[in-house]
Amino acid sequence: MSQSEASAQNRDEDTDHHRRMRALEAHSVGEVPVGCVFVYAPTGEIIGRGRNRTNETLNGTRHAEFEGIDMILAHDKYRVLAQDLANAFWKDVILYVTIEPCVMCASALRQLGIGQVYFGAGNDRFGGNGSVFNIHKDVNLPHTTYPSEGGYFRNEAIMVLRKFYVGENTNGK
Ligand SMILES: [Zn+2]
Repeated sequence: MSQSEASAQNRDEDTDHHRRMRALEAHSVGEVPVGCVFVYAPTGEIIGRGRNRTNETLNGTRHAEFEGIDMILAHDKYRVLAQDLANAFWKDVILYVTIEPCVMCASALRQLGIGQVYFGAGNDRFGGNGSVFNIHKDVNLPHTTYPSEGGYFRNEAIMVLRKFYVGENTNGK
């Protein structure tokens, strides 16, 4: 545990990762603050982003990850790539998300064939990338496994959550 925390410290110094994770805070307002960005590894471009919109939409499936996936598939270029290359496209896509993907999102990411997931804080209730279930690496499930690492900017992620829950972040801006 302390070893993984130490390596999380080291990762915090990676400026690319840091920039991407910091960009998420702005995306988590008025909802349980989960934000994500999808990066296309060959170009380093952010091709999708999302935040949790379950309250706004009254739809419990509108998790940040699904918002980001929809954004990618709404983009002509990436939709064509995703259709033509299927798994090869998604293998080149990296997800950064403030909170560990839940079991639903973890399964969707697996079905797409996502290349890599980095998350901030673990999700002790619904986590699908190690906290509760190991959807990302269970070899007995269909579709391919994917690497997922937690502890990225865990402190920042927890701070955002804490702000949200104490109501400091309710002005919608
Ligand atoms: Zn989810």
